[in-house]
Amino acid sequence: MPFKALGLHPLLVRATQELGYKEPTPVQAGSIPPGLAGRDIIATAQTGTGKTAAFLLPILHRLIGQPRGGTRVLILSPTRELAEQISEVCNGLAKHTQVRSALVVGGRPMGPQERALRAGTDIIVATPGRLLDFIQRNVAKFDRATTLVLDEADSLFDMGFLPDVRKIIARMPARSHTLLFSATMPPVIAKLANEILRTPATVQI
Ligand code: AMP
Repeated sequence: MPFKALGLHPLLVRATQELGYKEPTPVQAGSIPPGLAGRDIIATAQTGTGKTAAFLLPILHRLIGQPRGGTRVLILSPTRELAEQISEVCNGLAKHTQVRSALVVGGRPMGPQERALRAGTDIIVATPGRLLDFIQRNVAKFDRATTLVLDEADSLFDMGFLPDVRKIIARMPARSHTLLFSATMPPVIAKLANEILRTPATVQI
């Protein structure tokens, strides 16, 4: 089944072709239809399965053609390296669209990240610690953000980020679409999912 058959915007189908994606991987085939419909998702998927595009493609589809105005989407990742990879895939998939993203991670100078946030961006890809810094200084604002992705939720927990994640979620009053991806589904993640997801579609590969 080609990407086009999933109902993705032609500008996104074109980007998948240019990236050499011939057809959706299983996690993409499972996540894209409910994601496009705005359903919450809980997906068990390891790195290497195509999980990044599985959450980015429906999110980008839903952003295309929306008027600008504040950050709509937050993607949280446990590590700087993973956040950088997500950001690269996002730039590749969004290449033909007007959708813009910013990367907010620790271990890098604050100045350029602060300027990117102040300039305005549709999507923020972040690690929790650095993002909380910016939130507390009122540089990052999520009052209009509708969509949250927790990527590698089990690693977010293992690295002690769940308290930060909860603080960040509390800053998203308009959150209506939440996607949780995790390599494993320990009880603590199932409990978090139960708290923050509404009748999610379950994707297991
Ligand atoms: P991920 O699991 O998101 O880290 O992706 C693993 C790798 O698979 C990345 O290098 C992607 O570029 C690649 N990839 C993602 N989706 C597809 C696809 N549908 N067809 C071929 N390669 C893909």
